[in-house]
Amino acid sequence: MTLDQPVVLATKNRGKISEFQELFRDSGIELKTLGDFGPIPPVIEDGDTFEENAVKKAQFTARVLGIPAIADDSGLTVKALRGAPGVYSSRYAGENADDKSNNRKLLGEMEGVKDRTAAFMCVLALAVPRGPALIYEGTCEGIIARRPEGDLGFGYDPLFYYPPLKKTFAQLGSKEKNSISHRGKAIEELRGELDRVIVWLKQRLSEEPF
Ligand code: IMP
Repeated sequence: MTLDQPVVLATKNRGKISEFQELFRDSGIELKTLGDFGPIPPVIEDGDTFEENAVKKAQFTARVLGIPAIADDSGLTVKALRGAPGVYSSRYAGENADDKSNNRKLLGEMEGVKDRTAAFMCVLALAVPRGPALIYEGTCEGIIARRPEGDLGFGYDPLFYYPPLKKTFAQLGSKEKNSISHRGKAIEELRGELDRVIVWLKQRLSEEPF
């Protein structure tokens, strides 16, 4: 089954864009990115949970562009840091943080910490311009490494050691990462019921006022 209009991916994160494009290939849904449209106002990600932020991003983008939108809110939760950086993952080292400074801050906070258990979490929201959103979730458990390893991926990948493969996420190719990652699992959940999702979208869109 195919959807006869595109869905926009509500993110500017290049790492996420390439992972989503790969995961939506041959899905029956044409994925556009924000770069295919003119500039839109930024969404303030002030929710307390990944779900709140994902829904906010997807609904806002769908309303502004007038087409269905999919958003992911994701991040790293570290047990010894009581769930931090969590929803603040992208700005853990401050408002102008980048991947390098975030990783440096995480390593600093984890200095001398024995229990290095962590999990990546991802919540996907698929929204139409008006009405509710569909939600999908995925998690992936791992360990915070003592030093960065690997140069693939993005974000905290160099510090996220995945014991079953004995590698950090930054040492995995995108196919391998997508097959086990939090985002890969959430998208897999969505793809598992894609026909029903397309029917839901068609029905919702036919009810939209013109
Ligand atoms: P968001 O764009 O607000 O969802 O922020 C997500 C942040 O969580 C990113 O900027 C990364 O720091 C981190 N993150 C989420 N998913 C991943 C991943 O797959 N690898 C590494 N870092 C990730």
